Amino acid sequence: MASDCLFCKIIAGEIPATIRYEDSQLVVFDDIDPQAPHHFLIVPKKHIRTTLDLAPSDNELVGHIYQIAGKVARDLNFAETGFRVVNNCNDAGGQVVWHLHFHLLGGRDMSWPPG
Ligand code: AMP
Ligand code: ZN
Repeated sequence: MASDCLFCKIIAGEIPATIRYEDSQLVVFDDIDPQAPHHFLIVPKKHIRTTLDLAPSDNELVGHIYQIAGKVARDLNFAETGFRVVNNCNDAGGQVVWHLHFHLLGGRDMSWPPG
């Protein structure tokens, strides 16, 4: 846990969040500023700063994140209509919280290219 990290504090239960799924490796909770009817953050419990800090030993974790993205989308019935998984990396990528996370967005048509 990084003591100054917002998502580490949510994982530790020190800051409230609406948790939708949790297991030994990750948590899924509601984004506080939703950009779609369904907008969740899939967050590994391990403090990893950005995508660039992923090690080969994290490969199974990243695969698991995508498995859970599909599971949550199916369980909440927006998988078949379609959804988007987004990871923002570093400043130009739009990252503002420095603990690796994946946005799971669904429930509306998504445009392309992204903003
Ligand atoms: P990113 O720009 O990829 O770093 O995304 C950070 C996301 O964290 C944004 O979509 C924020 O709305 C979300 N966020 C910030 N603070 C909280 C919080 N306390 N609980 C849930 N989501 C949050
Ligand atoms: Zn953290």
